[in-house]
Amino acid sequence: MTIVGVGLIGGSLALAARRAGAVQTVVGVGRSPANREVALVRGLVDRATDDLSSGVRDADLVVLAVPVREIVRLLPGVARATGPACVVTDVGSVKGPILTAGDEAFPDGRFVAGHPIAGKEQSGPAAARADLFHDANWLLTPGERTQAGAVERVEALCRAAGARAVRMGAGWHDEVFATVSHLPHLVAYALMDAVLGTERGAERIRFSAGGLRDFTRVAGSDPAMWRDIFLMNREPVLRVLAEYQRALGRLAAAIRDGDGEQLEARLLQARVAREGLVHRS
Ligand code: NAP
Repeated sequence: MTIVGVGLIGGSLALAARRAGAVQTVVGVGRSPANREVALVRGLVDRATDDLSSGVRDADLVVLAVPVREIVRLLPGVARATGPACVVTDVGSVKGPILTAGDEAFPDGRFVAGHPIAGKEQSGPAAARADLFHDANWLLTPGERTQAGAVERVEALCRAAGARAVRMGAGWHDEVFATVSHLPHLVAYALMDAVLGTERGAERIRFSAGGLRDFTRVAGSDPAMWRDIFLMNREPVLRVLAEYQRALGRLAAAIRDGDGEQLEARLLQARVAREGLVHRS
């Protein structure tokens, strides 16, 4: 197995697949010598290289675990450097544009678009953990072209990593994750931005307690990774952002009008939905 991008997700998958005995040799492809060194020292990979073609050439399975725009950029090169028996998958957080690019690069249907629903704010190979995918959903969004056998091989990898493989349409995936993941990240970044933008904002932040910190936890994530996710999932993100702005508008109107009944009803409805979410997890 070759992992292109041995960071949090790629490194965790390497560890989990090794622990399950699902792979023999793991090759890592990455740009930075420091990351390659960490990946080797931590035993995430057996061999590490910065050369994509030689890194993927002998692989049975290639996993693209770099940021989403980089996945799209690398697909044609991976297609050229790998043979017809090699299955290629990715772990990117946006699926529609990656599936389109994958279908184009792999007309023989050996590319399987995927997205593990697991992660944390830390990044890089030092943050990788063998149990990151334990009990998580791993979404696969095969297209019309995708070979059934290729999907089954990736499903077996997901199971070896401790996850549940779940199939869904790429378009629906992007709508759902714009709502439950991309919007919360955007709002967390925006909230810090807004607080800092107030008069003597930095001083105000010094007095903050758990509320601000808990709410903005995900704003600790890598800005470059999230820049690419927002840009690549532009239309669904803008749609849910407009919905969010309408929700804020409704609350603002109730506050402006001194309409306590309306305000409390909306807060109560939100609290009930939130309790359902906590109960489920
Ligand atoms: P990460 O820890 O930063 O790892 C990304 C790896 O890709 C790094 O090891 C980096 O190594 C390499 N890389 C190659 N080209 C790069 C480029 N142009 N820019 C930045 N890094 C590049 O990130 P991650 O959290 O594992 O995320 C990887 C993928 O998983 C992303 O597509 C993301 O959408 C997806 N994902 C993330 C999460 C999450 O919670 N973090 C969850 C599910 C899916 P070098 O710099 O040495 O090349």
